[in-house]
Amino acid sequence: MLLTDCRLADGRTGMHVLLRGERVAAILDAPVEDAEVVDVGGALLLPALTDFHLHLDKSLFGLPWMPHAAGPDRMSRIETDARVLPALPVEPRATAMLRRCIAAGSVHFRSHVDITPAFGLRNLEGVLAVKAAHADQCHIQTVAFPQAGVMRAPGTLELLEEALRQGADVLGGLDPCEVDRDPKGQLDALFALAGRHGVGLDIHLHEAGKLGLFSIAEICARTRAAGMQGRVWISHGFALGAAPEGKLMAAAADMATSGVGLVSHGAGAAPLPPLLRLGDAGVPIALGNDNMRDTWGPYGTGDMLERAAIIGWRLDARTDAAMERVFGWVVESGARAMGVEVPAVAVGAVASFVSVTAESVPEAVAQHAKRGLLVFRGRVAWHPENRCLDSAPARHMS
Ligand SMILES: [Zn+2]
Repeated sequence: MLLTDCRLADGRTGMHVLLRGERVAAILDAPVEDAEVVDVGGALLLPALTDFHLHLDKSLFGLPWMPHAAGPDRMSRIETDARVLPALPVEPRATAMLRRCIAAGSVHFRSHVDITPAFGLRNLEGVLAVKAAHADQCHIQTVAFPQAGVMRAPGTLELLEEALRQGADVLGGLDPCEVDRDPKGQLDALFALAGRHGVGLDIHLHEAGKLGLFSIAEICARTRAAGMQGRVWISHGFALGAAPEGKLMAAAADMATSGVGLVSHGAGAAPLPPLLRLGDAGVPIALGNDNMRDTWGPYGTGDMLERAAIIGWRLDARTDAAMERVFGWVVESGARAMGVEVPAVAVGAVASFVSVTAESVPEAVAQHAKRGLLVFRGRVAWHPENRCLDSAPARHMS
């Protein structure tokens, strides 16, 4: 397949990218004859994007607009999930969200999936079915996520173990102090379970202030003790967004030496950790959309370039160099953490691409303009004109 008339991130225009199998065979300044041609129309060809933290099972995409029903606190949202979601089958909602994300240029996903006594494994079964149905368009990793807590919700540990047996790739966790009020109990149990199954950990940590920093230190200590460096991520880490300088840098050094990464989505109502400085200190950084049009909140479109723009804006990342670092967080770090080969517009690289109406990576981040073609491992996974994926009603994709 020959992708013709591509703009490249290095500024070259009118280039032709020849694919063979799932890889880039050549980058040419003149077209070759005997190839299936796909016209990129002068758009910028970029490596496809990674959403390293979303919740496919909570999606309300594809349904009529539902006014936000939960109260302002986390427990109210957990209760709303349990009240609203059981009546709504998982697969159509997750499919509608996933297709939005794919059409916006993402091909690698880490989806947390609620594993609670109320839901059992139902949400995991739904998301695994959606994953199988879209294996030609994207790669999905699932996290068995104890949204209702672990120690405070008896039976959850057993369900988490069963979720790992049934195909969940990673073990989740949630606010060991605030939700469970038993940090030693939750973290000891989760690390033991992850160790038994040889899986990584990704722990939602909303806890603020000293409590959050305490939990980060406890997670880092267990990561080192278990030899799990590079396989543990903290999602949110809001405490890092408001920590005094000395405590911030101590936590950053602890995370860097423990190989514990930070996933952020730039929550509007919480202090944003200083991601550029944490990255400078050696903390792996990745980004995700987290909750989008779901029981937790009405915002979010599935677009990781839009997410990069929100985070870049909040970080005051104005220079091209800073915006290119933010772009790296939506391409490379999450994919690498999932064990996926990172795509690149380069000879020999795996050919997963998105085309964007932009001149450069910084413009693509700042303006997050229209997406065009999506290629996943050498095959067209989405094209705005023929909508390869669009077997769902059009309103799902609007
Ligand atoms: Zn989340």
